[in-house]
Amino acid sequence: MIRCEDILREVSELLDDEITAEMRIQIETHLCACRHCKVLVDTTRKTLTLVSSYTVLELPEGVSARLLDRLAKHMESGPSQ
Ligand SMILES: [Zn+2]
Repeated sequence: MIRCEDILREVSELLDDEITAEMRIQIETHLCACRHCKVLVDTTRKTLTLVSSYTVLELPEGVSARLLDRLAKHMESGPSQ
């Protein structure tokens, strides 16, 4: 059983498709039950889409400093391919 802090830890991997199918199922199950995490993942996904589409960092309210830090690192590392 995964918890909210697990979602926080895995969210960047989830959005990058760097998690196992089993972990994805567990996360999806958690998101169905936890609105807070669902909003977090949706917001992060939209932010990443914005960043990659326009390379403009427009951050919605509610994105935590830790996530911003991850986003910044994600951008610094550039495309994975
Ligand atoms: Zn949660």
